[in-house]
Amino acid sequence: MHAFRNQRGKIGTVGDVLILLLVLVTIGAWWITQRNKLRTAPPPAPAAPIAATPPPIVVADQDPAQAPSLVAPSPAGGGQLRPFTPGSLPGSQHTAALETVHALIEQGRDADAEARLSALPQDALNDQRIRQAASVLWNNLGIVRQQSRGTAAAVPAFKTAVTLSPRDQTPRLNLAHAYVETKDPALTREFLEETIQIAPNDPVAHLALADLLYGKDDLAGAILHLEQGRQQTPAGSPLRPYLDLVSARVLRAEKAEQKFSARESSHFLVKFNGNEDYDTWTKVLDILEDAYRDIGQKLNYFPAKPITVVLHTRAVFQSATGSPAWADGLYDGVLGRIQIPTQGALTDQAWLARVLRHEFVHALLHQRVEGSRVPTWLNEGLAMQLAGDNSWPDLDRVIKGEVTLIPLSRLEGGWTGFPPDLATVAYLEGNSATAYLIDRYGMGKVQDIIEALAGRQPMADAIKDRLFISYDEFQQRWSDDINEKIRAGKT
Ligand SMILES: [Zn+2]
Repeated sequence: MHAFRNQRGKIGTVGDVLILLLVLVTIGAWWITQRNKLRTAPPPAPAAPIAATPPPIVVADQDPAQAPSLVAPSPAGGGQLRPFTPGSLPGSQHTAALETVHALIEQGRDADAEARLSALPQDALNDQRIRQAASVLWNNLGIVRQQSRGTAAAVPAFKTAVTLSPRDQTPRLNLAHAYVETKDPALTREFLEETIQIAPNDPVAHLALADLLYGKDDLAGAILHLEQGRQQTPAGSPLRPYLDLVSARVLRAEKAEQKFSARESSHFLVKFNGNEDYDTWTKVLDILEDAYRDIGQKLNYFPAKPITVVLHTRAVFQSATGSPAWADGLYDGVLGRIQIPTQGALTDQAWLARVLRHEFVHALLHQRVEGSRVPTWLNEGLAMQLAGDNSWPDLDRVIKGEVTLIPLSRLEGGWTGFPPDLATVAYLEGNSATAYLIDRYGMGKVQDIIEALAGRQPMADAIKDRLFISYDEFQQRWSDDINEKIRAGKT
């Protein structure tokens, strides 16, 4: 039987894990701030009236393989405040100005505070103590802004705090965490290495660097920082099992691909065993670039990040990827890469194109809808429809008599635990429901639904908003359509 039963787990990439970790770390930091406040003598002015409400607590799924997403909501007010002590600035003509700024920050009047901080004359900042105090205030201003207007709005203030005091841990970590959360392009290798030097015990910087190196296919470098990030993550953290899983996967990939060659095109990085056929690689790249244009156009989305595609020989495919014996290809959601066995690929180019296009759809949707929130029936259905796969029969040709379908809402999660018969029905249903969706409503509506999913709407809401019918109504119409076809087929 033809099977595209990949093991696409419902988890994010290495990058997704950072966001959750960031939330956990910042919650941890918040508690430490609170604890320290109780232990140490109170500062001249209350340090953090804005931290009166605890940030939301995010609980990771117990079973990482089934976690719907590791992308947590933005950690409101996650950064660390620094105590401002005007008493340490005796005799400076700027002390009063800084105290005013401190008071304005405490009142949440960030615009006024910013105007006054920006107005500090350059020669004032030549005084190391004033410079230090200004850095503290810019940092705290960033925190206020983060709480009221979100993390992206806080970045410029954190940046200024870092510029004024480049070796201080707190503003540096607040800036690094903000960059991770907002996926700021300033999150470069250089910045992260500097951050690790200043704050070696922070797991986020290590994991962000691991993610960056992994993206450049530097697996050994990624493993090194993954391990350091893992060691800095408390043993009891709900994130540890997932980090263990990611580490194991990257290690396995590194081992399997040690002697591989890598060649890049503008949108793909194709890795293959150097001893294997060079022609296969060329052919694979042709198919992929074609899929990029064609499928990208149909879904109105072109993946921004290059997609890694690893070509294994059939003999090692299973052990190198952990995929089941019957799988033709695999999109690994943890590693964010396509893996396929290529033995005999050139003799069956139709098969090769089908498998690559199918897995490319998964890769595209993974980038488009972060956190894998695409229901599995739609994800597989789109992969089958857009792969140009004619090897699956239509549902109405397989099932005799009146059809009772598995509700689509029960086909939204992972299918890997399904027994083979149920999995076959699931694929047929996904294919059928997606074909109906495309035929009846058009590709534009499919794009709309995907956009809604990317905006974190649940599937039921996405359908209601974009198709103007309920999820139940959509299923009813699709099921009626199949039954009608079955009746028509009998007459
Ligand atoms: Zn698939």
